[in-house]
Amino acid sequence: MPNDASSDQLIQSLTRKGIQDQRVLAAIAKIPRERFVLDEDAEEAYVDTALPIDCGQTISQPYIVALMTQAFELTGDETVLEIGTGSGYQTAILSQLCRHVVSIERHEALAQTAQSTLSDLQITNVSYRLGDGTLGCAELGPYDGILVAAAAPKVPQSLVNQLRNGGRIVIPVGEESSQSLILATRTPQQLRVEKLCDCRFVKLIGAEGWPASDG
Ligand code: SAH
Repeated sequence: MPNDASSDQLIQSLTRKGIQDQRVLAAIAKIPRERFVLDEDAEEAYVDTALPIDCGQTISQPYIVALMTQAFELTGDETVLEIGTGSGYQTAILSQLCRHVVSIERHEALAQTAQSTLSDLQITNVSYRLGDGTLGCAELGPYDGILVAAAAPKVPQSLVNQLRNGGRIVIPVGEESSQSLILATRTPQQLRVEKLCDCRFVKLIGAEGWPASDG
């Protein structure tokens, strides 16, 4: 547990910005973000900002991690699919709040580092997959929640198909340079869509994302 003033300041800052779910705030207070950033950025680990990680990717801003997690209204029984393991920070937060997390990453180096960080932290309720997360992971579904941590041109249909009725997907959708963070709930008839905020994520690359030219 990060037991210092900077972690407290991060929690205060998230509260000021409107994060209200106490379970989400408690998970953020508990997980040491300095373990997920590059060594040279350790001093900024509790600043509310995105930071670079390997493979040209980023660890998401804590406010966005909190907002996305809060949108699921997790009670502890759920199975959540995460696309874009990255550093594993968001994975670690989800692992505290639901029964099981399935996390998919396309960069092997990131997947390996994240897996070893979470194992050091004794987090055991996560299944890791390497590959194209736009296609989901049907064999471990259906899911109560799907969190996509990279920007998509549209909501991937494969992911919608793996959501339970009443399940929620939180995903940045839009152009490469700016997106809307949306919360969509699957109902028997349709997807009910609500916008949470404007945002900017790295690209979701894959069959139902952007083509793989870079990133
Ligand atoms: N939540 C992570 C975010 C990492 S950035 C964190 O805070 O550390 C987004 C991640 O999505 C990158 O690691 C990128 O490699 C990954 N990604 C992009 N497209 C993907 C795809 N189709 N399947 C799986 N991972 C993907």
